[in-house]
Amino acid sequence: MRFFDPHIHMTSRTTDDYVAMAASGVRAIVEPAFWLGQPRTTVGAFVDYFSSLVGWERFRASQFGVAHFCAIGLNSKEANDEGLAREVLDVLPRFALKEGVVAVGEIGYDEITPAEERAYQEQLEFAKAHDMVVMVHSPHRDKKRGIIRSLDVAQEVGVPMHKLVIDHNNEETVEDTLGRGAWCAFTIYPHTKMGSERMVELLEKYGPERMIVDSSADWGVSDPLSVPKTAKLMLERGIDPEHVRLVTWQNALDAYAQSGQIDVEALLAEPVVDQTKLFSDNSVLRGQTPRVDAAVPN
Ligand SMILES: [Zn+2]
Repeated sequence: MRFFDPHIHMTSRTTDDYVAMAASGVRAIVEPAFWLGQPRTTVGAFVDYFSSLVGWERFRASQFGVAHFCAIGLNSKEANDEGLAREVLDVLPRFALKEGVVAVGEIGYDEITPAEERAYQEQLEFAKAHDMVVMVHSPHRDKKRGIIRSLDVAQEVGVPMHKLVIDHNNEETVEDTLGRGAWCAFTIYPHTKMGSERMVELLEKYGPERMIVDSSADWGVSDPLSVPKTAKLMLERGIDPEHVRLVTWQNALDAYAQSGQIDVEALLAEPVVDQTKLFSDNSVLRGQTPRVDAAVPN
């Protein structure tokens, strides 16, 4: 099977993860800009981070046969440092319109503060003006209120619901998100309440339409193989294989291909890896023999 993990922070992961993901069928990913565990202190730190998402990390993924797309945005946590947030919002347009950027994200609420709301609103306006998809992060605490507020504000700004992906849903929010017509994504973390088992039950209850599974793997305890593992459990539990395909591949592709940044034909073909390639003179190899796949003749 082929999988699309539309929320994963590969900057925090290793080449072993890329190898394991590719071997498990993960063919494409979206890496949204987020916070790094401690607050950044200068706008330059954001500039370098955004440019690595559209540059080095995209290259690194390609060296293992994984197609890398990203979302660019100011995360909700750091939106609370309002002076710095202003500077970051001013540089965002330089990156959000680059090749490989499929959405504005991940943006939204963390503590649901007025500063978060201002940054969220401004980025929604930007997305609307450029007809972009928006990836919305929802808070861990007060999730339901955060999600309803994110939906309300997006509607007020006039972002069409088919361009809105609400992430980190659970049983208490699924009906709010689906009911408005937005894409409804679920993050599957290992050893937590929102695990694969619960995802199977949600799929049985609500069906596959606009439902998306992702890993949100990052520098914390998380699993870059969440999507293939959840698919396996779904199949074992007797979920229709077509429904499994929708929630672990097609829906994410449909949502983010609206950006016009995804070559769908290329994703359906076998990846062709050439590890002799360099990015600004840098290789992912450390003296190993490069893998060079023969291009498949068409
Ligand atoms: Zn994230």
